Amino acid sequence: MAVYQTHEYDVLIIGAGGAGLRAAIAAAAANVRVGVVCKSLLGKAHTVMAEGGVAAALANVDDRDNWKVHFADTMRGGQYINHWRMAELHAKEAPERVRELEAWGALFDRTADGRILQRNFGGHAYPRLAHVGDRTGLEMIRTLQDHGVHSGMSVHMECTVYRLLKDGHRIAGAFAYNRDRGTFVVFRAGAVVLATGGIGRAFSITSNSWEYTGDGHALAYHAGAELIDMEFVQFHPTGMVWPPSVRGILVTEGVRGEGGVLRNSEGRRFMFDEIPANYRETTAANEEEGWRYTQGDRAARRPPELLTRDHVARMIMREVREGRGSPHGGVYLDIAWIRERLPNGKEHIKRKLPGMYHQFKALADIDITEEPMEVGPTTHYAMGGVRVDGDSQMSTVSGLFAAGECAAGLHGANRLGGNSLSDLLVFGKRAGEYAAKFAQEHGPPTIDGATVDRAAKDALAPFDRSSQGEGAFAIEHALQEKMQELVGIVRREAEMIEALDRIAELRARAEKVGVRGNREYNPGWHTALDLDSLLTVSEVVTRAAIERKESRGAHFRDDYPGKDAEWGRVNLVVKKAADGSMSVSRAPVAEMRADLKQIIEEIK
Ligand SMILES: Cc1cc2nc3c(=O)[nH]c(=O)nc-3n(C[C@H](O)[C@H](O)[C@H](O)COP(=O)(O)OP(=O)(O)OC[C@H]3O[C@@H](n4cnc5c(N)ncnc54)[C@H](O)[C@@H]3O)c2cc1C
Repeated sequence: MAVYQTHEYDVLIIGAGGAGLRAAIAAAAANVRVGVVCKSLLGKAHTVMAEGGVAAALANVDDRDNWKVHFADTMRGGQYINHWRMAELHAKEAPERVRELEAWGALFDRTADGRILQRNFGGHAYPRLAHVGDRTGLEMIRTLQDHGVHSGMSVHMECTVYRLLKDGHRIAGAFAYNRDRGTFVVFRAGAVVLATGGIGRAFSITSNSWEYTGDGHALAYHAGAELIDMEFVQFHPTGMVWPPSVRGILVTEGVRGEGGVLRNSEGRRFMFDEIPANYRETTAANEEEGWRYTQGDRAARRPPELLTRDHVARMIMREVREGRGSPHGGVYLDIAWIRERLPNGKEHIKRKLPGMYHQFKALADIDITEEPMEVGPTTHYAMGGVRVDGDSQMSTVSGLFAAGECAAGLHGANRLGGNSLSDLLVFGKRAGEYAAKFAQEHGPPTIDGATVDRAAKDALAPFDRSSQGEGAFAIEHALQEKMQELVGIVRREAEMIEALDRIAELRARAEKVGVRGNREYNPGWHTALDLDSLLTVSEVVTRAAIERKESRGAHFRDDYPGKDAEWGRVNLVVKKAADGSMSVSRAPVAEMRADLKQIIEEIK
């Protein structure tokens, strides 16, 4: 093996968002050596963008809430193909994880009697989201980062993991490059936790940050791990649609939680037009009841704007398609109207939604306390990811763990808002603990020098083609456009088959990609190396979406618009076959424990 900068850890964590930092804190508590690698600066991970809040049944605002209701809501939102053990652990442990954050210094908004305030969010029966205005992710990252650096972890910033390394069937570490100098780094580690976030950058309209190129998903796939539920990509109903430079930026569900309503170009609240059967009993009968719900009336039911994201996104698309949209291809989200009901409405909006107020003022010259926003769906979240054991978070590769958005199971076919931040805390902690235990029990692995040299050679290959190779940005852009157009919110078999052809063509182009300049600060090179992840996750999503011949949660098939009971009993698993091809198979959803089934029956 050539000489590279080398680091040794018991636990290597790839990703410094909420999941990675919580895992690092847990692993450090077990007194093992912990390394954290991240593409950006510490504190800049995607989690910092989270707005609305973290879901936990603290019951501070409504004492009818408890873990059982949270569990039932999560399962119903995920259309019952969730990993029920994860949903159980998540609902039970989220309150403790939030209180722990508070003990570490997180300053949440407060109730009048000084407890953590909670707000309404789509699909949650009661006000459940602990929040800090609409900047919850910032507070969460700040707290975890502060606590993490004092717990003892070494951080490698602006460093991208390019390959996972294995010792036989077991994980052995990772090969990475420093984004600033372009030098290579080898990490040897007894256990590795993937906490790399999502895949949104595979689509052209997205709320996701530049880091979300699906690296963790692709790294796990190439290392032999199984991916699950990849057909379920969440399109958040409310992203900005205008001006074009900001298209896709998120408009938090918190706006609707605070009383914001959706209207079409005729001024009608179209969300009342169609209520899914399993939410009919719990949805407001009229606008008046919906308003009372947002103001904390315990006898009122939720307005249809707070139905699950998949449904709201499709309803918006229908209005646009049928010619009742806003001028720039969205619909209207109106929070300004609450001034009719609240004497201090303007100040109330600014206090509850300061980020949204500034976002629209600065980016679109819109004052949301005076006029409605134009919004439309944006690619937001990957329900699919690395298949893990529910308790330990270990993948199907020995010593390789995954947590947060890059892991899968908890959310099934559709994630409820707020359930990601709690997912990061609950399963980040578990992944860190179990990874430390694994490393302690199995000792250090051996790294194969030839594999490392091959990874280095592959990473540098685009420089060999600098004169004749095509640039990476054009390929990335073409992929994003095709995924948005052919594997987006409404899917059809023929279009997805066409997407596979386009992905194959783009892969052939990516194999010839060329990079100019040198290894220092070279975004063209970084993008060239991201292409494999983007192409891999795009193909995985497309193959799984073709296979699931029904509509469920975030996966809507125009050619199979109904739900099929048979499909409600299976998850789709994607894996790299021995011959290198992509295999898609069905795995039966595990039979739910009787006591949990009973909870669902009782809470329906
Ligand atoms: C605008 C917005 C608002 C949101 N609001 C909410 C909300 O209110 N409530 C909620 O529950 N959810 C919300 N979400 C979703 C939630 O923020 C994310 O799902 C969550 O933060 C993901 O956390 P994570 O720890 O898994 O990953 P991240 O926070 O994205 O961290 C990923 C880390 O992995 C690193 N990384 C990636 N690839 C590599 C690589 N190859 N090598 C090295 N490092 C790598 C990145 O640099 C980063 O440090 C929101 C999402 C968006 C986009």
